[in-house]
Order: sequence, then C-alpha cells, then structure tokens
Amino acid sequence: MSSTMQAVVIHGREDYRLERIPVPVPGPGEALVKVQAVGICASDLKCFHGAPMYWGDGPIPPNVDLLVTPGHEFVGEIVTIDDLGRQRWGVDTGDRVVAEQIVPCWKCWFCRRGQYWMCAPHNIFGFRRSVNGAMAEYMIYPADAIVHKVSHDIPAAHAAFAEPLSCALHAVERASIGFGDVVVVAGCGPIGLGMIAGVRAKSPAHVIALDHIPEKLDLAAECGADITLNVDTDNAESVVRDLTEGYGADVYLDATGHPSAVPQGLNLLRKLGRYVEYGVFGSPVTVDWTIISDVKELDVLGAHLGPYCWPTAISMIEAKVLPLDRICSHQLPLNDFRAGIDLVGRGDASVKVSLLPGAESPPWGINDRHRRRARGH
Ligand SMILES: [Zn+2]
Ligand SMILES: [Zn+2]
Repeated sequence: MSSTMQAVVIHGREDYRLERIPVPVPGPGEALVKVQAVGICASDLKCFHGAPMYWGDGPIPPNVDLLVTPGHEFVGEIVTIDDLGRQRWGVDTGDRVVAEQIVPCWKCWFCRRGQYWMCAPHNIFGFRRSVNGAMAEYMIYPADAIVHKVSHDIPAAHAAFAEPLSCALHAVERASIGFGDVVVVAGCGPIGLGMIAGVRAKSPAHVIALDHIPEKLDLAAECGADITLNVDTDNAESVVRDLTEGYGADVYLDATGHPSAVPQGLNLLRKLGRYVEYGVFGSPVTVDWTIISDVKELDVLGAHLGPYCWPTAISMIEAKVLPLDRICSHQLPLNDFRAGIDLVGRGDASVKVSLLPGAESPPWGINDRHRRRARGH
C-alpha cells in the first residue's frame, strides 16, 4: 500500500483541490477505511459556493475548517482495525461499513441525553479537520464514530445512500404520521425521495409529491407517492383541498431548501397541521408567522441528520425498497469531483451524484495537472 493517496482538500470558497497527501494512520480504537463511494450532497454544493452558514459571514460561526477533505455520505472497507475497534463496533478487516456523518463527543449535555445528533462540538465528517471526509482514497473512522455494517452485495453508491436516507427517515419520524394523514413532500431530490419511501412505510392515506422536473416525479411514484404534482403546471392547493374536504394537508415535509417551499407549505396545511423543515437555505426566508399562530396553530418542526434511523435506512437499501439504480444517477472518479459538484449544481441533470475513489481515473482533469506539477513541469 502506498503511503500517499489522492484526496480533495478545501482551500477556500470555490477552491477545492485534488492533492496527494499522506494516508492517515489510525490511532487506538480507530479504523482505516478504503473509501468505495462518497455522495455529493446539496450541502457540499452550498459549502463549495460559500453559503454564509459555512463561512461565518452570516449570523452563525463558520461551519467548515480550511484544509479539510469533504464528504460525509460514504461507504468503505476496513483495511486496519485494532481489538478496541473490533469490540466496540463488532466489525473486522474486510467488512464493508458506513459511519454516521456526525462523530459525537459523548460528553456534552446533548450526548449525555442520547441526543447525539445535536452534539455541541458538532464534528461532522468533511467539515472539521478532526474528522476528514471521504473524498479521498482512504479515511479514518474515529473511535467515537457510530459504525454500521452494510452488505457487500449492493453497488457502493447505493450503500453510501444510507446517509441521505437516514436523514430523510428522521424527518419522517419528526412528522409523527398517522394512518389517515394526507402527507405532502416538497422536493424530489435524494432527501425528498427518501422521505416519500419513509412516509409510504408509515401507510398514511395519501403521499403527495411536489417537484417541477417530470423525471423526479416519476421517481417519486416509484418510491411510493400515489399522487405526483408538477408545481409549474398543477394546482397543488386545489388537489389537496379536494382530498381533504377543503381542510388542507395534515403534514408537509420540505426537502427543497427553496424559499418558495415555505409559504407553499404553510398554505397547503390544514389548521393544527405539522410542518417539517429539512431544507438548508442559501438565504433567509420571510413569511407571515401569524399563519403559524393565530390562523392555523401549526406545529413547525426542524430536522437535522438521521439519528437512530441508520439501521432502517440500511435495511431498506439492502431490500431494494427504493429504485436506487435510477436515484444514484451518476458515478464519477475522484478526480472528476469538480464536474460532480457542477452536476449537483444543475439540479435537473442528476439525482444523486457519487464519486468512486477506488475507480479507474480517466487520463485528463485536475489530477493530471497536479501530476505534472509534482514532476516539475
Ligand atoms: Zn448530506
Ligand atoms: Zn456531544
């Protein structure tokens, strides 16, 4: 095994570089993992282009360190592990494993209450230097990570989908769905499609999917939506009204992160309805909060990460509940990471874009430029 590896390194806004860096060396209780696939998330895109929440020029402190390797949705195979790690996670060399995207401290107030997804230090793979992400040939699963085994029998990109799917399922849990509910999911990207599959598993009266791209609505139907509406051409409000004696939807889940989805949801919900927000917004959203209080007395719930949903997500993937061959629409080699980010940016061209660090690299791109530089050309 070479002592160096290819890795994407964050140098700043829109300045991510493919570099050769040392293969990390695992400490006590840690595992060295050979990365098989890493998904590119909308949050990676927003971080790359410099959304204020990541770079500290908004109301909250910066969320990303410099010189970090990004990538928080991944799967890989264990190369090196000691007895401490073997015992804690019940895994061994050669096992295919995912790690939850947050590495909890297990000491803070939230961790002590089991609410580890709100861990105060909030070390998420690929955003903090202490927990480098998966856009590299190898990565470390730190001792505090939460690790789950995944079947070798599914494509790597599908296995890495455990991360977005667990997030989607957590949002569904937040919605406390009942059998008679009419549930609306806005946005049929990876998270929205995962929500639809999760909502379907809860067996409500109707699962309504909203998007403006016909192919994504098609996928929504395959994931379990019984009604799909194109927000550009269909009148979602009248469809929902017709289904609910004019009252409105019981539950609305937003997976768009688009400012227009917020008033849309507040509008589609009945009085005493439940709004679940999973979106990460590029800018603040303005709505009339009176609709939440005086007009409808809504429950407005946030959702973040996928706590306690990973085992279910992995079972759903292994059982092929979702059409993952279509959802995992693009797989690229690591040195095409820029093309991958751009593909995610053009939302309608892809669903889930993944990088396969183990795959053969084509003889062009950023990698080649670096190689030439390394040789002194
Ligand atoms: Zn993500
Ligand atoms: Zn903590």
